[in-house]
Amino acid sequence: MGWITAQAPRPAELNACVDCGLCLPHCPTYRLTGDETASPRGRIAAMRAVADGLVPIDDAFEDMMSFCLQCRACEAACPSLVPFGRAMEGARAELAAQRSDAGRRIRQVLLGRLVTSPGLLRLATRSLGLARRTAAIRIVPAALRASLAGMRSVSRPLPPVRGATHGAQGKQIGSVALLAGCVMDAWFGGVHEATVELLTRAGYRVVVPPGQTCCGALAAHDGDARGARRLAARNIRALSGVDLVVSNAAGCSAHLKEYAEWAGDGGAILAGRARDVTEVIAGAIEDGRLPTMSINRGVVAVQDPCHLRHAQRIVEAPRVIVSAAGYQPVDLADDQCCGAAGLYSMLHPETSHTLGENKAAQIRAVGSTVVASANPGCEMQVRAHLDNWYRVAHPVELYWEAIREKELRSRENPE
Ligand code: SF4
Ligand code: SF4
Repeated sequence: MGWITAQAPRPAELNACVDCGLCLPHCPTYRLTGDETASPRGRIAAMRAVADGLVPIDDAFEDMMSFCLQCRACEAACPSLVPFGRAMEGARAELAAQRSDAGRRIRQVLLGRLVTSPGLLRLATRSLGLARRTAAIRIVPAALRASLAGMRSVSRPLPPVRGATHGAQGKQIGSVALLAGCVMDAWFGGVHEATVELLTRAGYRVVVPPGQTCCGALAAHDGDARGARRLAARNIRALSGVDLVVSNAAGCSAHLKEYAEWAGDGGAILAGRARDVTEVIAGAIEDGRLPTMSINRGVVAVQDPCHLRHAQRIVEAPRVIVSAAGYQPVDLADDQCCGAAGLYSMLHPETSHTLGENKAAQIRAVGSTVVASANPGCEMQVRAHLDNWYRVAHPVELYWEAIREKELRSRENPE
């Protein structure tokens, strides 16, 4: 039968693979299993076989695609520049279109409702937070329970209220629309606060446009092409009229940069303006618009989110930011996925758990109890696998805290 949707893997994407195997040592699922069918090369071969009509889209194909973390480590390692992430999104869209799966349909409807309704997400968050503290937690599925262990806050106020405008401090050099996101809004108010404070100090007028919604990354990764297109169209309308569109979640900034895939010319314009907050703040530190602390705060373990390092190839920026805060950044033993990967921790809890434990062991080996992570899913995953005395925070939070402390000290002890 082959492919039937516009999102399907394209011949040029699949034919770019020359079967060299250089991606294999970088693939977490191949490293765990040693199985070619769990490797990028094997997955591309399977997509080609379907495209050529040699095999149907069956259970075996679905298992191969579903087991992929979509971490894109293979893409960063590939000398032939195979756009693996794009092809995998296409394969997932085909699975959703061609295979009847009630579980997937229910998941996509529930997820679609949850991520587009901040009120509903807050209600679900509060209910889950309450369940965590009572016996009711037993009725929450084990996989979801594991993810919730890393949840930061259940009722944190949302500082950058939708519709608010925050003026630039000092000379204005540009304007930014902040993507408030879905879980960022509900659980990571402190990251939003740090983002707005730092951007305004760096000379940007920051607006938090009303009418915006979830970026659509979760829908795209789950094969819900229609949902991803709908969310992209809404954001294109809401996040217009600014110089930059900034997200403080690496998974979201990576997806915004690929909006041309989901929303044509309007998507391409937004994609050209999209930035991860780490690149904007690191740029402001490097050209002296934001300060560098001279204090020594010790070592911080830097966890590289896959969608920052592999999808956006942003490696230095988080290190520049924590260094400016007075920390000495230390890399982990490798940059393998932590196992969070969007919905993966719920769909493949055992593999997700193994990868989470591996990541936690690498963090412990650094010898610091402070961890910098620029993506909410990774932050929750590593926190869930570490003891309570570890502090896991976004690099901009660590930096904003350092600035605040310095200002407080100078107010208390004026020269
Ligand atoms: S995806 Fe790239 S690195 Fe992997 S086998 Fe194909 S060409 Fe080689
Ligand atoms: S995206 Fe990650 S898990 Fe999937 S094939 Fe590539 S390296 Fe392996």
